[in-house]
Amino acid sequence: MSDAAGRLAEVKANIADAAKRAKRNAADIRLIAVSKTHDADAIRPLIAAGQRDFGENRVQEAAAKWPELRAATPGIALHLIGQLQSNKAEEAVALFDAIHSVDRPSLVQALAKACAKAGKQPQLFVQVNVGDEEQKGGCAVAELPALLAEAKAAGLAIDGLMAIPPADIEPAPYFALLDELAERHGLPMRSMGMSGDYETAVMLGATHVRVGTALFGARD
Ligand SMILES: *Cc1c(COP(=O)(O)O)cnc(C)c1O
Repeated sequence: MSDAAGRLAEVKANIADAAKRAKRNAADIRLIAVSKTHDADAIRPLIAAGQRDFGENRVQEAAAKWPELRAATPGIALHLIGQLQSNKAEEAVALFDAIHSVDRPSLVQALAKACAKAGKQPQLFVQVNVGDEEQKGGCAVAELPALLAEAKAAGLAIDGLMAIPPADIEPAPYFALLDELAERHGLPMRSMGMSGDYETAVMLGATHVRVGTALFGARD
């Protein structure tokens, strides 16, 4: 087994364990391999080991790396997990199967326009700033109802919520908050949990975990 295959097997086993403890079905949890900063040579072994969902945080980087990798393997799903500028909405809709960073009215409008023009809509997650941190992306918890209403009015279907909890403190309360917000608004998907805390996120309802370092090793 390659290193990549071994790491993938380990992360999947951890997800299965956490799901079992939470009495959830592991098949309901999607593992997104976050390949930002890693080149095609680092990504190919994971594809060879069966991984199909990948996450990138920049449109430009994804556009440079993925067309060739995708042409070689059918069934790849690409997830945008980083902030999206409104002027890149069209490119993002063309390239990504899911966008996890919808966080403001202007972006909702840009995406609605881009989706109408493309005749397709990626899965969409509203990113919520669950710690109400000043420097962090995501819509404020208090603004979530208005943003969801705006998306609905624009004809944009929202599938779920995404969060990045504050660093260096226990993430569980923030995962629980995201789960509760998703439940309250009738949204089935929750994108939460990274290398350090994906098992906790699975126990608290994550449907998508975004794991980079535990699969690829440290980024430069
Ligand atoms: C980089 C990144 C991840 C992956 O982080 P790791 O700690 O390397 O697993 C997950 N989510 C987002 C939004 C990221 O930017």
